[in-house]
Amino acid sequence: MNWDDLRGHRDQIEMLRRSIARGRQAHAYLFAGSPGIGKARFARIFAQSLFCEKHEDTELLACGDCSPCRQMNAGSHPDYFAIGCPEGKNEIPVSVFYGEKERRGQEGLIHDLSLRPMAGARRIAVLDDANRMNEEGANAMLKTLEEPPPNSMLILIAENLDAMLPTIRSRCQLVRFSPLAANDVADLLIENEIASTPEEASAAAGMSEGSLHTASQLLNPALRTLRLSLYDALATADLRPIDVAKAMTSGIDELGGDTNEQRRNAGWLIRFAQEFYRQVVLLLSGDSTPAGPGSDVVSRFASLLTNRGAKGIELAMELFDRCVLAEDHISWNVAPAKTMDSLFDDLARTTRTRLRAAR
Ligand SMILES: [Zn+2]
Repeated sequence: MNWDDLRGHRDQIEMLRRSIARGRQAHAYLFAGSPGIGKARFARIFAQSLFCEKHEDTELLACGDCSPCRQMNAGSHPDYFAIGCPEGKNEIPVSVFYGEKERRGQEGLIHDLSLRPMAGARRIAVLDDANRMNEEGANAMLKTLEEPPPNSMLILIAENLDAMLPTIRSRCQLVRFSPLAANDVADLLIENEIASTPEEASAAAGMSEGSLHTASQLLNPALRTLRLSLYDALATADLRPIDVAKAMTSGIDELGGDTNEQRRNAGWLIRFAQEFYRQVVLLLSGDSTPAGPGSDVVSRFASLLTNRGAKGIELAMELFDRCVLAEDHISWNVAPAKTMDSLFDDLARTTRTRLRAAR
């Protein structure tokens, strides 16, 4: 891999290149930014560029061809360690830092990092999900940061800086990462065969807040089916609030997951409803034609409002605003079922009375 295999983050590459050229290479970095934007990939290419034998560190480039580059590409470089929170765990087990009980201190990240480099000038360890260290893990990390082993570099990756101890943050050089551009997310969805059509990719990318991770979740087939049935319900002049709320709530149940996951999925459905009305507004004002799954349903609802001119646009905007309020409710921890009940009730009433009044 090299920088060409990474989307976005050009400023961060330049910033690191300049600081290394000025001799300000840090012992520890903290890469911070939302999930699914390529921080771990960035860390890997950064490490490879430092290992690469064809390029000076100050160039911060990886040739892809020298022996260290090949070892990095094969995942077998002896001085590179990448670990994170295991799937299904909420926090990083202490064994990741210290090794399993019977071999405590003889393996694990701290031990690996303290050994002399086998191939090159330094050992590099990447700790993903660093915001999920427990107290013991954080203390272990802190000790390493206070007395970094010679010829070692540590890269911590975190989505949430608030969850990091200030003592850890202050010992790392902070590099902040921005969300990806929507077109980059759309391209990645196609490249990785997560989306099957460009329309589908750009619709998911547009709602993803620059995160490939979020965009992939949005393309979960069950969630997509639920979205289409939501669109169908919203597109009728006589929306039946109780039926829709029930269908959405049981759809969320079927998607499974814990309370947080369910809350997030409820949040998505509300965002879908916003997106529905947003597309209606754009279509009515002649600014764009809806694309992607469900666009025919958007057009169907827009056609109900189309001969009402400005009033039609006003109504769609009001319905959009009501969905924004519901999103706030979800983030204030109002129960998803309750939020849905009152949202669909209000949407139905507003739609019905306005369409009737305009008749
Ligand atoms: Zn190389």
